[in-house]
Amino acid sequence: MEVIESVSLMQARSEELRLAGHTLAFVPTMGFLHEGHLELMRVARSLADRVIVSIFVNPTQFGPKEDFAKYPRDREGDLAKVEGVSVDICFLPDVSEMYPRGFQTTVSVRELSGHLCGLSRPGHFDGVTTVVSKLFNITKPHIAVFGQKDYQQLAVISRMVTDTNMGIEIVGVPTVREHDGLAMSSRNAYLNRDERRSALCLKKAMDLAAEMFASGERDAKILKNAMERLIVTHPYTSIDYVAVCDPVTLDDLDKVGEQALVALAVKVGRTRLIDNCLLKARNLSERRDL
Ligand code: AMP
Repeated sequence: MEVIESVSLMQARSEELRLAGHTLAFVPTMGFLHEGHLELMRVARSLADRVIVSIFVNPTQFGPKEDFAKYPRDREGDLAKVEGVSVDICFLPDVSEMYPRGFQTTVSVRELSGHLCGLSRPGHFDGVTTVVSKLFNITKPHIAVFGQKDYQQLAVISRMVTDTNMGIEIVGVPTVREHDGLAMSSRNAYLNRDERRSALCLKKAMDLAAEMFASGERDAKILKNAMERLIVTHPYTSIDYVAVCDPVTLDDLDKVGEQALVALAVKVGRTRLIDNCLLKARNLSERRDL
C-alpha cells in the first residue's frame, strides 16, 4: 500500500491512475478506524479497481468547544487496518498541507446543512463540504463511499456533487452496528462502562418508533414523544434532538406518509452520539439504495 502525505503527490498519482484507465473509489475518514469504516472500504473495493482512503481529522468541522484536540487518533493502527482490506493508497495530509496560510474558501450547501446537526453544530457542514470538495479535487475519484450512519452528511454531499456537477458517484453504505445494536463510531471510545450501557437508548428509541409505525402510528409528535420518554429513562443522557423528518429535504414532518427519517442526537455523559433509521410503509429495514 502506498502512503501519501502531500497534496501535489496525491494529485499526480490519481491523475496517473486515471490516465492508465483505472476507476478510482475514495473513502474519506477521520481515522481511529472501526468495522464501519472498513465496510465502506470493502464496498469501495467491490466497485473500482483502485481504492484510496484518506485519514484527516478536519479542524474546520469542529466547533470551538468541540473535541478536535482530543479526537482519538491511531496512525499506525489505522494503517494496518487499511492495508488489511486491500486499500491501494492511504492519503494522510497534515493540517498545514490542507489549510495553508491564506486559505479562505468555503463550500456551503445552504438548506440541507441548516437542519438536524446543523442547528446544534453551526458551521459543521460547511467544514465538511469544504474539506470533502478539497479531498475530491485531490484524489479525483470516480466513486466516493460514505456511511448512512451520518445520514445528513451523505445528503449534503450528494447535493453538493449534483449542484456543482462534480461527476462523482456517491454511494451510501448501511450503518454497521455492535452486536447489541449500538452504531459503531470512533467517539464510542469516550464512553465508560455505564455510559456505554445508556448509549443503547438511541437504538432502542428507533426500534420503538419502528414498532409504533408498523402498528399504524403516523403522528410524528407521538413518535417523537415516545422516543424522548424512552431516552430520558437512561442515566447520563441529554437529548440534543429527536426528529421525524422528510428523508429528502430533512424538513420536520407532522404526519408520516410513505416514509420518514428518524434521526437522533443524544449526549451520553460528554459524548454526543447520533443515529438514524428510515421508517417505510411496507418494509421497515434500512434502505440500501440511498
Ligand atoms: P468519520 O471517520 O467518523 O468521519 O467517518 C468516515 C466515514 O465512515 C463516513 O462516511 C461515516 O458515515 C462512515 N461511518 C462511520 N461510522 C459508520 C458505521 N457505524 N457504519 C457505516 N459507516 C460509518
